[in-house]
Amino acid sequence: MSVQMIQPHQADELIREHMPTYGATGVPVEEAAGRILRTAIRADRDLPPFDRVTMDGIAIDFAAWQSGQRQFSVHDTAVAGRPAPELTDSTRGCIQVMTGTMLPAGTNAVIPYEDLDLAEGVAVVHDTADVVPLQHLHSQASDRRVGEIIVPAGTRLRAPHISIAAAVGCARVQVTCPPAVAIISTGDELKQVDEPVEPFQIRSANDHGIRAALLRLGHNHVERFHVRDDLDATLQLLQQLLNDFDVLILTGGVSMGKRDFVPTALQECQVQNHFHKIRQKPGKPMWFGTSPSGKPVFALPGNTVSTLVCLHRYVGPALAHAEGENDASPQWVRIQDAIRWPLPLTGFIPVRLVYSSAGICSAVPCETNTSGDFAALSASDGFVELPEGQDLFPAGSIVQYRAWQ
Ligand code: AMP
Ligand code: MG
Repeated sequence: MSVQMIQPHQADELIREHMPTYGATGVPVEEAAGRILRTAIRADRDLPPFDRVTMDGIAIDFAAWQSGQRQFSVHDTAVAGRPAPELTDSTRGCIQVMTGTMLPAGTNAVIPYEDLDLAEGVAVVHDTADVVPLQHLHSQASDRRVGEIIVPAGTRLRAPHISIAAAVGCARVQVTCPPAVAIISTGDELKQVDEPVEPFQIRSANDHGIRAALLRLGHNHVERFHVRDDLDATLQLLQQLLNDFDVLILTGGVSMGKRDFVPTALQECQVQNHFHKIRQKPGKPMWFGTSPSGKPVFALPGNTVSTLVCLHRYVGPALAHAEGENDASPQWVRIQDAIRWPLPLTGFIPVRLVYSSAGICSAVPCETNTSGDFAALSASDGFVELPEGQDLFPAGSIVQYRAWQ
C-alpha cells in the first residue's frame, strides 16, 4: 500500500474500518466495573417494587384528614423487611412508618414526625401542618416498570450501573471479553524501571503509561515486552505475539532512523499497513495495520508525549469501538488564552483545565521545553486538538479535548 500522510479524521476512519469486534462473556457483577455491557440490564420488577415510605412518621388515610381529623391513634408500626400491617380504622387511626417501609394498606399519605406530637399512643398533628394525598411516598413503578431497560447495551459500567445491576438481581452481567493486548517497547537504549541506567541509557516508560491507561479502560489482560533494535529479534517477537495476543501496541522504532525496524518487521509478518504517518504533531510517524487474521497493530512513535497522545487519540477510542461501547459525544473546551499554531499539521497541546468561580471551564496549555518534555505532562489533565489550517486560535476558541486516563 502506498505510504502517504493522512489527516487525523482519515486515520480514525481507516482504523474503524479495520478493527475487529470482540465476543461477550458473563462475569459476576463484582468483576464488571469498567467493562462494556453487551446485554441490556432491565428492571426485573417494578421500581420501586412497592409503595415506599420516604419519611419517618405516621401513615393515614387522606380522607380522614380531609374530613377534619387531626388526632390519630397509633394502631401498629410498619418495619423494614416485613409486610406492612393494614390500617383497619381509617377514620381515626394511623400506623407508624419509617423510611423504606412499605405503605400500609388503607393509608395513602405520610405525616412526618416533625409535623406532629406523639404521646401515649396518640399523634396530634400541628395546626401549621399541611397534608396532600400521596405525600412522602415513592410510588410503586414510578421510576421504572418491570421489563424496562435501565442500562442499555454498550454502556461502560461505572459505580451507578453496578448498583443498578445488583438492585435488579443481575448476579452476572454480559460484557465484552476484552482482547489480550501486548505492548512492545523497542530500543537498545531502554532499561527496565528497576535496573541501573548508564548515562547513555533511559528507562522504558511508555509501556508502563500505556498499560496504566488500558487498565483504567477496563482491560485486564495486558502484558509488556521489550525488543532490541534488531530486525530478526523484532520479527521473531512479533510473530510470537501475533499468535498469542489479539492486539499489539508498539512504541518506538517507527520513524525513519537507521535502526527503526518496526515497519519492515511488520511487513515481513504480513501485517497489512493501512497508514503510516498522520499530519499531526506530536505523533506524526504513527503506523497502523492488521495481521492476516485481522488483529490490529498500532505502532506509536517512541517519544513519550507522542506515544501517550496517539494512545488516547486513536488506540483507546478504537478499542472502545471494537468492544461495542456506545460512541461517547466528543468533549469540547474553550481555551483561556490565544494559541498560535503556525504549523501545517493538526496540533495536540497538553492542557490543564481551570474552573472559574463563574463556573466556566477553560483549557490552559502546559508550558513545555520541547516536544520531548514528558515531565510537563504531570500538570496536565489531557490535551486539546488544534485542526490544521488555522494559524491563530483566539482566546475563547472552542476545541476538542481528551482527558488522560
Ligand atoms: P524512536 O521512535 O524509537 O526513535 O524513539 C524516539 C524517542 O523516544 C527516543 O528518545 C527514545 O529513546 C524514546 N523512547 C522510545 N521508546 C521509549 C520507551 N519505551 N520509554 C521511554 N522513551 C522511549
Ligand atoms: Mg528507537
